[in-house]
Amino acid sequence: MNNFGLDIWSNNNFIIENGQIRLNYKCMPSLLQIVEDIRSDDVRGPILLRFPHLIKAQIRTLYNYFDKAIQQNNYKGKFNAVFPLKVNQFPHAVEAVTSQGAQYNYGLEAGSKAELILAMSKTPIGANITVNGFKDKEMITLGFIAAQSGHNITITIEGLGELETIIEVAKECDLKVPNIGIRVRLHSTGSGIWAKSGGMDAKFGLTSTEIIEAITLLREADLLQHLSMIHFHIGSQMSDIAPLKKALREAGNIYAELKKMGATSLDNINIGGGLAVEYNQHAHLNSRNYSIDEFSSSVVFLLGEIMNAKNVSHPNIFTESGRFIVASHAVLITPVLELFTQDYQEKLLNFKTVNPPLIEELVELNRLLNNTNCIEYLHDALDHMESVLTLFDLGYIDLQDRSNAEILVHNIIKRALYLKSANPTDELAQLQVKLQERYLINASIFQSLPDYWGLNQHFPVMPLHHLNSTPLRAASLWDITCDSDGEIGFNPDKPLYLHDVNLDEEEYFLGFFNVGAYQETLGMNHNLFTHPSEYTITIDEHSYEVKNAVESKSILDILDSIGYDSKILHTKLKNDLSNSKFISEKEKSDTLAKLELFLQQNGYLRTTN
Ligand SMILES: *Cc1c(COP(=O)(O)O)cnc(C)c1O
Repeated sequence: MNNFGLDIWSNNNFIIENGQIRLNYKCMPSLLQIVEDIRSDDVRGPILLRFPHLIKAQIRTLYNYFDKAIQQNNYKGKFNAVFPLKVNQFPHAVEAVTSQGAQYNYGLEAGSKAELILAMSKTPIGANITVNGFKDKEMITLGFIAAQSGHNITITIEGLGELETIIEVAKECDLKVPNIGIRVRLHSTGSGIWAKSGGMDAKFGLTSTEIIEAITLLREADLLQHLSMIHFHIGSQMSDIAPLKKALREAGNIYAELKKMGATSLDNINIGGGLAVEYNQHAHLNSRNYSIDEFSSSVVFLLGEIMNAKNVSHPNIFTESGRFIVASHAVLITPVLELFTQDYQEKLLNFKTVNPPLIEELVELNRLLNNTNCIEYLHDALDHMESVLTLFDLGYIDLQDRSNAEILVHNIIKRALYLKSANPTDELAQLQVKLQERYLINASIFQSLPDYWGLNQHFPVMPLHHLNSTPLRAASLWDITCDSDGEIGFNPDKPLYLHDVNLDEEEYFLGFFNVGAYQETLGMNHNLFTHPSEYTITIDEHSYEVKNAVESKSILDILDSIGYDSKILHTKLKNDLSNSKFISEKEKSDTLAKLELFLQQNGYLRTTN
């Protein structure tokens, strides 16, 4: 049986029971049941489910492990965390983060003006706000407004120009001065595909010379008492812990040096984000080489060691992990619309009264195939297939014979694969790859899994049901965009096998997991497929509740969102139809009603019932 690597990537958040995948929480609803529940309201297309309890679990894990490490290392600083909004700014994700984080005084991090406004509106007074990224005078002034409004806000400067602007704004107005942070440019580099955030050629941060200059500028402007944090971020999805340790040593020593240089109010070190998520679903391909336990212990231990050696008091530790907090909370569910090689079904066999001898032999091979003879019979069948094709090319047999032969041989291969599925030979494994089935999914990879398209990031995928039978079809997934990049091809290094289902008789749903970080805002409206319909699911001991429904945009709204006036388009379509000739009034009004309905629906396909 195949559990799709659930034990590797799911962190025990999901389990398989009675052939279905379920939430491993309280009343343990099955994902299929939730999806059927939502679809019973005539919802079609892809569905994004949010599970706030999974965000809570991640926040709790982060705080608990750091608190434990602080106790074990007799560390004197405190642990604080903020959620970086760029990872997911969608209202119901942010709402889940802030409500689940309230008891920890969990704050928000902003990297742009819009995110800062969001942070100022959604952070409870008292929790931390940190601001990173490039800033102009307006954005810095917003930081002053936030401080004046009572927020505990730290503006991290990415360059000396920003510091000069802070000094300017402080001189020009009487608003409360926010806390100031300095992003340091480390000589040690990050790891993974997002490594560009660290290193000498990094996009962000001050060099050591610039840091010394910053201290001078702050002292001269009488603002040194506002310098409270140094910050670094070595990149997202750190696969290896070693570069983080190097960065910590470097940043820790910079912190201690600055304390000695008279930065007395400096008392926080912000280690950025980068805590990795396990996306892999095959053994031996792990996405990271450390656990949260090792991560938190290493950070606390190293910082304590550096400060003790330099006789500097222990700083408070800030983290800005985003991916780690929200990746697991969202699951994308897509119906499968079609399987492209279904045409080799046995029921399509159409024999003649007298068939060519090769076909009769294939019928016999198919009939008598069993566990003992299947490899030998498979070889015979493949051999016969070659002969049939040669005979066809020479004009000796017709298209119906050829079709019968193809169906029979496919069937023999499939059955041999099934019989030997426990330990397939190399030859069978190769046949399996060749016999790939293409599953058409009602979703857009560009919209819902943009990091697969842009970075080849793998997301765990599995069916929601049929999990008590072994999937045998080597699968590649096609999305419904008209773009050949909208495909997740079969990869023999991390193979995906799915079930052979007859979609005329039943539905088949796939779930993509760990899609809660970055995918939603990075997702693009290629072919005008918009954000899927989304729902928040809360679960208690007895039942679950579907909340916060936001249906995927209607076709008219999509067009409005890119600048068309949908009213004009709408009127034009109606008029063209109304003015058309050679159609009865009844037919016309029925068609108009149909058109109205279509325009109000979302842009995804509605083929499945
Ligand atoms: C993107 C970013 C983060 C979040 O990184 P994750 O890998 O999602 O944890 C944190 N801090 C800064 C400055 C960032 O730019």
